[in-house]
Amino acid sequence: MLVKMRPDATKDEVAAVEKKLHGLGYKTGKLVGTEITLIGVYGDISRLPVGEIEELAGVEQLIPISKAYKRAAQKGAPDRPIYQAVPIGGVVCGGEDLVVIAGPCSVESEAQIMEAARLVKEAGAQCLRGGVVKYRSSPYSGWEGLGSSDTESLKRGLALIVKAGRAFGLPTVVEILDPGDVPIYEDAGIDCFQVGEPNSKNQALLNRLRTTALPVIHKRGNSLDTEAYLLWVERIMTGGKENVILCERGIASATRYTRNTLDIGSVAAFHYQLSGLPVAVDASHGTGIRDLVHPATLAGIMAGASIVLVEAHPNPLIAKSDGFQGLFPEQLRTLVRAARETWTLRRRLDREYQPSAVLERDYMGRMQADRERLFKS
Ligand code: PEP
Ligand code: MN
Repeated sequence: MLVKMRPDATKDEVAAVEKKLHGLGYKTGKLVGTEITLIGVYGDISRLPVGEIEELAGVEQLIPISKAYKRAAQKGAPDRPIYQAVPIGGVVCGGEDLVVIAGPCSVESEAQIMEAARLVKEAGAQCLRGGVVKYRSSPYSGWEGLGSSDTESLKRGLALIVKAGRAFGLPTVVEILDPGDVPIYEDAGIDCFQVGEPNSKNQALLNRLRTTALPVIHKRGNSLDTEAYLLWVERIMTGGKENVILCERGIASATRYTRNTLDIGSVAAFHYQLSGLPVAVDASHGTGIRDLVHPATLAGIMAGASIVLVEAHPNPLIAKSDGFQGLFPEQLRTLVRAARETWTLRRRLDREYQPSAVLERDYMGRMQADRERLFKS
């Protein structure tokens, strides 16, 4: 935080502000210019009594210089960011390898999820996804998931996906809707919670997930601004939880052709500038069109995603939800291969890229020479 003093602030007023900050336990550093004085405040800014400081004589404005989402924010220097790895079961996300989480939109029967797990494994993906309780936009859709009627049905549905995952050595990712159900999911043995788009701002659910040991994939709400989303992600992390994964799954826009607008620019912003957390790309919900899932997923990887979340079904033509965007088994196999090639390419290009922070230092030093060379005619 910077405290900007008014141009007419006296030395005594500046000293009084410093004394107040020291009294509150903060360290300060002063920058005295010809016009104004800035006081840098170091320490835990979240407990700074902003109102009290603003009211001190000579203070013009308090300027935040760090992100409001501290834990979800990228750490390290701009040209040397620090990335955090998040394991799902034994599968490391945000590490050296691309992770593919694939499976049906919903768990529909024991036979269906078993066959889905087999095809996910055969395709070379590492984790199995599947919803047991589904969020539906219409109350008349009929299908709300195997586990939607009561606690017993939820337990039975969760047991099916856990059994299928274990049979094929695939950690499981399952969406949760109700904060009260957290222990039921944990006891069932799932490996990762998914917070769906409609719950992106569900304060009670996010608060509850602070205390689970399991990782959480938090999907971006379709009307959440890039950084506003990170502040909702931060909510799960306050208190010290670190194993959280970002997910871009499309936002609302003027586009009607695709189900949502996959915000590739924000994927790049999350990975290269704003956050150190692993980023997943979900082009299934991002596009809602089976044949667009493949190219849009690859674009997400090139933009910075290290995790692919994708819907696939033994026969998407008879899927009970989101069949229109579910990949056929053959398509999943092709996608996993292409995704890994794309990942290898991006990692190489990342190593070759010269960050602006590095180049700027060099170019700053030659500004005067360049001005003379380029503008002096
Ligand atoms: C899903 O993953 O099946 C799902 C419904 O996703 P979203 O919450 O992103 O719409
Ligand atoms: Mn779905």
